[in-house]
Amino acid sequence: MNRDWIEKDFYKTLEVADSASQEEIKKSYRKLAQKHHPDANPGDSAAEERFKEISEAYSILSDVEQRKEYDQVRRLAASGGFQGFGGGPGGGFGTGFGGQQVRVEDLQDLLGGMGGLGDLFGFGSRGGRSGPTRGSDLATELAIGFEDAAFGTETEVVLEGGASCSKCNGSGAEPGSTITTCPTCGGQGVVAQNQGFFSFSQPCGQCHGSGRLVEDKCSQCRGSGTENRRRVVKLRVPAGVKDGSTLRLRGKGAPGQFGGPSGDLMVRIRVAPSQRFGRRENDLTLKVPITYSEAALGTKIEVPTLNGGVKVKIPAGTPSGKTFRVRGKGISPERGRPGDLLVTVDVAVPKKLSRDEKKILEQLAGHETEDIRSHLR
Ligand SMILES: [Zn+2]
Ligand SMILES: [Zn+2]
Repeated sequence: MNRDWIEKDFYKTLEVADSASQEEIKKSYRKLAQKHHPDANPGDSAAEERFKEISEAYSILSDVEQRKEYDQVRRLAASGGFQGFGGGPGGGFGTGFGGQQVRVEDLQDLLGGMGGLGDLFGFGSRGGRSGPTRGSDLATELAIGFEDAAFGTETEVVLEGGASCSKCNGSGAEPGSTITTCPTCGGQGVVAQNQGFFSFSQPCGQCHGSGRLVEDKCSQCRGSGTENRRRVVKLRVPAGVKDGSTLRLRGKGAPGQFGGPSGDLMVRIRVAPSQRFGRRENDLTLKVPITYSEAALGTKIEVPTLNGGVKVKIPAGTPSGKTFRVRGKGISPERGRPGDLLVTVDVAVPKKLSRDEKKILEQLAGHETEDIRSHLR
């Protein structure tokens, strides 16, 4: 199970009722997937995002077993069983999920009777509540500027909630006290029990599955190795990152308990729009006004790129709306081919004419020979 189950309404995403049949779900999914497919909406990141959501929702609801579990989770959530998941102090569900608003024991008790869901949370079926537990994955958002997304940047996110205990560095032992490997299980946390032909693994009774014996539990975290505090996670955003993409930072999520590994941190990137440029994948788009005479006679204009100006040749007789491709002047992603700059000219018509301009244009009008509306007759 993942947090999306509590955060998202997959039925709403697929535009069907909770009671929809598998057939109805499939039908609605096909319709929506066609409409929002990236191939049908090139460069439209909103459609791409929607497509991902639809696919995620369908992957759960199309599987009868998973749908059943999802429905159970929703019923629990509706009855307040997951209170605290949403409102962490830093906003966003990540902090609440990884923090201490929900005690792991509470979840375990809630889910214990639900067949399978406990396993999905990673508690396993051993029931060893003090055994090593992997920390949860956390999610957060990071807003960056257009140019930072193009060139990449080093930045940081601030998280509130579960972090490894600052007093014992996550070991769970009071500084100065010793941690010894559990002699009963040899540090494995489990002991084998033979019953006839079969051998069962059971959580070790002496160390409660943690594999170690702590002389004095840390007074700050009471031996859990985690505490609630603010922490700063540094990260490097790669050049060419796209709006809506997610970076996974391994081991930067909620800390594990009793020596378990930390979860991951998922950072969703929001890229601010640019004043000048549009963006299609790694290509940049730019609209440039030119005058009628520049379009008719041809010229060379200087246009901006992310990295200084570049000259673009406008040949004589260029129609308004024509696009010129400047190779390699788009976004250079960390991996893959650099994009191009697509310059679209827009022939501007003056709103006001000086007397001279007017006179010259009237003369020009008398000399125009091309019959531009012949195809309409
Ligand atoms: Zn043991
Ligand atoms: Zn501690």
